[in-house]
Amino acid sequence: MDTQMLIGSRFEAGTETEERVLNPKTGEAVLSLPEASLGQIDAAVDAAEKAFKSWSQTTPSQRSAYLLKIADAIERDAQGFAALEALNCGKPINAVLNDEIPAIVDCYRFFAGAVRNLHGPVAGEYLPGHTSMIRRDPIGIVGSIAPWNYPLMMMAWKLAPAIAGGNTVVFKPSEQTPLTALKMAKLLADILPEGVVNVILGRGESVGNALINHLKISMVSITGDVATGKKVLQAAAKTVKRTHLELGGKAPVIVFDDADIDAVVSGIRTFGYYNAGQDCTAACRIYADAKVYDNFVADLTSAVSSIKFNLADDTENEIGPLISKRQRDRVESFVTRAAEHKHMEVTTGGKISGERGFFYAPTVVAGATQDDEIVRREVFGPVVSVTRFTNPDDAVAWANDSDYGLASSVWTKDISRGMQTAARLQYGCTWINTHFMLVNEMPHGGMKQSGYGKDMSVYAIEDYTAVRHVMINHG
Ligand code: NAD
Repeated sequence: MDTQMLIGSRFEAGTETEERVLNPKTGEAVLSLPEASLGQIDAAVDAAEKAFKSWSQTTPSQRSAYLLKIADAIERDAQGFAALEALNCGKPINAVLNDEIPAIVDCYRFFAGAVRNLHGPVAGEYLPGHTSMIRRDPIGIVGSIAPWNYPLMMMAWKLAPAIAGGNTVVFKPSEQTPLTALKMAKLLADILPEGVVNVILGRGESVGNALINHLKISMVSITGDVATGKKVLQAAAKTVKRTHLELGGKAPVIVFDDADIDAVVSGIRTFGYYNAGQDCTAACRIYADAKVYDNFVADLTSAVSSIKFNLADDTENEIGPLISKRQRDRVESFVTRAAEHKHMEVTTGGKISGERGFFYAPTVVAGATQDDEIVRREVFGPVVSVTRFTNPDDAVAWANDSDYGLASSVWTKDISRGMQTAARLQYGCTWINTHFMLVNEMPHGGMKQSGYGKDMSVYAIEDYTAVRHVMINHG
C-alpha cells in the first residue's frame, strides 16, 4: 500500500499529527497517516510553481498524450484501485469496478480530447487596423480539495481539467479517504513531469486551511460541505483567488400522476440509495401527486426493503456502510427526530444495522411536509423522504424552496409537462424520467448554496483557464 505524499518528485511521509484511516465495514483502523507540515505544504506549492513554467508552455496535444497515459494506467490497474477504494470507503467492490472506474478512466480521456478542440470568438478586425484574438491560458497553481464520498472520481474531476488547461496542482484528499489518492500519486509520478501534480495529506482545519490561504495558489477547487465552501470564499477574498465550489445538495424528485410508477420506484431504489445515499445528487426529496401517493409509498417501501447490504459475500451487496460512526450517528439522529413527529412514518429501515462497521438500513420517511427538517436539510445517507402534493404548482414551488440547487428530476409520461417543469426548476441539472445519470460530455455543478463552477464537460476547462484578449495594432 502506498502511504507517502508526493512533493515534486519526492515521496515522503508527513511529519505532523497522525490521522487514523478506517475501514467503514468493520470500524477498524487500516493504518494511520501523519499529515503534512507547513514546510511540506510550501514545498508542494513550490514544486507546482516550478513545474508551471514548463507545463504551461506545453501544447494541448502534449498534455492530451499525458492524460491518455493516465487513463490507460488506471484502467490497467482497475482491480487494484477498486479494491483500495472499496476498503477505504466500504463501497461494494463491483460498484467501484463496474460503475466508478470506467467513468474515471473516461474522464481523463474526455479531457484529453476536449482540450484539443476548444472554441471561441473569431479573430478579426473589430476596430480598423487592429486585430483581436482570444486566448485561453492557464490560471497557475490550483489547490484542489476533495471529499470522501467518491475519492478517486473527485480526484479525476479536479485533476483532469486542471492539468488539461495547463495548470499545476497541489491536491489534498479527504483525511478519511486518502488511500487511492496515494496510489494515484505513484501512478502520476511515473507519467507526469515533476511537480505538475503534488499530493499532500491532512485535515481540513490544518492542511486544507493552509492551502486555501496560500499566497502562491491562484485558484481553489473544493468539493465539500457548504460551510467549508464559505471558508474557502473568505480565504479567497484576501488575495482574490478564483474559486470552484461543488457543495451539498438536496435533490427534489417530482412524481406527477401520469408517471410510470414502476419506473419511478425502481429509479428511486437505485438513485436514492447509491453509495448509501452519500451523494450530493441523491434522489432524496420526493414530491408525489396525491392521486398516486399511497401506491407509490407502498411500492417504494417494499422495493427499498429489498436493497441488499451488509452481507458477508460482498458481490451480493448493493450498497455499503456510511463513511464513519459520526456520519452514521448524524443520519440516525435525522430519522429519530423525524419519527418523533406524528405526521411522519418511517415505513422501512430507520435503524442501525449490525454490530460492526457503520451500516444504516435503507430508510423511507413518508408523510413529510415542506417545513420538516428531513425535507430541508442534507442527510447524506440512505434516507428518502416522501411528501404529498395536490397542486402541481406547489410541487415546483416546494422543489425550488431550498438553499441547494444542484440536481433535480421530474417523472411524467407527458414530455411537454416534463420540459415545462424542467424550465421552472432552479437546479444545475434536471433529469426527466431518470435521475443521477452523469456523462463526461455534460456539466455537473450547482446553483445557490450548492456552489458554482462545473465539473466534467468543456465548461470545466473554461473554469480552469482564463479568457484573455490580445489586440495587435497594425494600422
Ligand atoms: P467537508 O467540507 O467536511 O470536507 C471536504 C474536504 O474539505 C475535505 O478534504 C476536508 O479536509 C476539507 N476541509 C474541511 N474543512 C476545511 C477548511 N476549513 N479549509 C480547507 N479545507 C477544508 O465535506 P465532507 O464531509 O468531506 O463531504 C461531504 C460533503 O460534500 C457533503 O455536504 C456533500 O454534499 C458534499 N459533496 C458535494 C459534491 C458536489 O459535487 N456538489 C460532491 C460530493 C460531496
